[in-house]
Amino acid sequence: MTDLPAAAAILTACGLDASLLTGGSLAVHSPIDGSELARLTETPAAAMPAVIARAQSAFAVWRHVPAPRRGELVRLLGEELRAAKADLGALVTLEAGKILSEGLGEVQEMIDICDFAVGLSRQLYGLTIASERPGHVMRETWHPLGPCAVITAFNFPVAVWSWNAALALVCGDPVIWKPSEKTPLTALACMKIFERAAARFGDAPEGLAQLVIGGADLGAALSASPDVPLVSATGSTRMGRIVGPEVAKRFGKSILELGGNNAMIVAPSADLDMAVRAIVFSAVGTAGQRCTSLRRLIVHHSVKDQLVERLIRAYATLPVGDPRAATTLVGPLIDAGSLARMQTALERARADGGLVHGGRTASGAPQGGAYVEPAIVEMPGQTAVVREETFAPILYAMGYETLDEAIALQNDVPQGLSSCIFTLNLREAEEFLQRSDCGIANVNIGPSGAEIGGAFGGEKETGGGRESGSDAWKAYMRRATNTVNYS
Ligand code: NAD
Repeated sequence: MTDLPAAAAILTACGLDASLLTGGSLAVHSPIDGSELARLTETPAAAMPAVIARAQSAFAVWRHVPAPRRGELVRLLGEELRAAKADLGALVTLEAGKILSEGLGEVQEMIDICDFAVGLSRQLYGLTIASERPGHVMRETWHPLGPCAVITAFNFPVAVWSWNAALALVCGDPVIWKPSEKTPLTALACMKIFERAAARFGDAPEGLAQLVIGGADLGAALSASPDVPLVSATGSTRMGRIVGPEVAKRFGKSILELGGNNAMIVAPSADLDMAVRAIVFSAVGTAGQRCTSLRRLIVHHSVKDQLVERLIRAYATLPVGDPRAATTLVGPLIDAGSLARMQTALERARADGGLVHGGRTASGAPQGGAYVEPAIVEMPGQTAVVREETFAPILYAMGYETLDEAIALQNDVPQGLSSCIFTLNLREAEEFLQRSDCGIANVNIGPSGAEIGGAFGGEKETGGGRESGSDAWKAYMRRATNTVNYS
C-alpha cells in the first residue's frame, strides 16, 4: 500500500532519529509486517542504582514544589500531547499494530488524564477528624511518596504510563518507566514529548521522568529496590505473581493491573441490536488484545441461537488487515507467538466439544504479520481453556437458564477485571451489580474501554490495583494522621 506513511517518516515525526534507533541489541519489529524498525541500546541492569538515585535526587526537590505548580507541568504535558497526537498515534499503530482510531484514542486518553491530574493538583484533600481529647485537633494529611516505577505491557504502550505518571507527578513523585520490550519506541517518543513540556516549565528537576529500555531484569531491579516506594505494574498475571511478592518482601506498595477474563451476560429482555454492537466492539477491538476485551458471552438459552447467528454474520464482514488503512477494523496480533497461543486455545476448545467459527489465518493481509479472523466458539460449558486468558480474539459463548447460574459462571474464573449485563429488567441489572466480583461492572455497555474519571482495575488474579480516576491518587501518596495539642 503505497499511500500509507512510511515507517521512517513516522519515526522522524516523533523525533526519533537514526542515532537513537541503531547500534543496539534490542530489535524492535512492527507487527504490521514483521519489519525491523530499530535496534535500541538497552539500559544495563548495572545502571539501575544510578537511575534510582537520580529519581531520589529529583524527589528531594519536587516534593517541595507546591502541588498546583506541579500540576502546571502536567498541563503543559497535556498541551504537548495535543500537538503530537497524530504523530504519536501513528507510532502506536506502527509499533503495537493498533488500528489508527485506536492509536489516536490511546493518545486522547493521555490528554484526558493530564486534564484530570491538573484539576487534582488542587484537590489533594485530607480529612479533619474529631478528637476525643479537649484542646486537640486531629487531621489526615497526604504527602509525596517518592520514586514510582511504572512497568507497562505492549498493548497500551503509552496510555498506561500517563495514567500513572500524570497522577504521580502532581502527587510529588518522580517516575521511572520500564515499558514492554516489544514497544520501546512509543516510550522514547513520550519522553521527547515530556522533555518539551519540562523545557517550557523551566525548573523541573533532572531525573523527574526517566525511561529504562530492556527486559524483565530491569523491572526486577525496580521491584527489589527499597528506594522505589511504589511499583505500578501492568501485564500478565504471571508477571504480577513475581513482582507483587518481590515488592511486598521489602514492604513497598504495588499497584498490580494484570490479566482479565471479561464476561457479558445477555438476558432474555436485552436489546439485541445494542448487544451485538457492544459484543463486536469489545471482543474484536485491538484484535482481542485488551485487558478488558470481551472473552466470555453468557447468553440466556431463549436468545442464544439468534444472537450467535447474528454475531457470526457480523464477524464475516469484519475487515482484517493493515491497521494503517482507514477501512481496517481488526489489525494484527503482536507476534507469531500470540497467534500460536490462539490456535492452541482453539484446539483445546475443540477437544472440549467447542464449535469454532472463524479463527483462521486472515487472507489478503500484509505478509510477515500475524493476522487472524476473530473466532466465536460455542462451548458446552466453562472448561479450563475458557477460564484462562488467551490474549487474542476468541469469544466463548455459553448458555444459561437462571440469572443465578449466569452470575455464578461469570464469577467462576480466577480473574476479576471487567463484566457487564445486557438487560432491560431493573431487578436483573441491580442483582448483577451487587454480585459481580469484578472491579468493573456495567449495564448495557460492554466491558472494554474505560473513562479516565473512574478508578480502573480488577480483583482476584487481576491484582487488586486501581489507577487513573476517582481517588486512585491516594496510592501515590503517603498518609499521615496528625494530632495537635493546642491546649
Ligand atoms: P507481560 O507480563 O509479558 O509484560 C508486561 C511487563 O512486565 C513488560 O514490561 C515486561 O518486561 C515486564 N516483566 C515481565 N516479567 C517481569 C518480572 N519478572 N519482573 C518485572 N517486570 C517484568 O505482559 P504483556 O504480554 O506485555 O501484556 C499482556 C498482558 O497484560 C495481558 O495479560 C493483559 O491482560 C495485561 N494487561 C492488563 C491491564 C490492566 O490494566 N489490568 C492492562 C493492559 C494489559
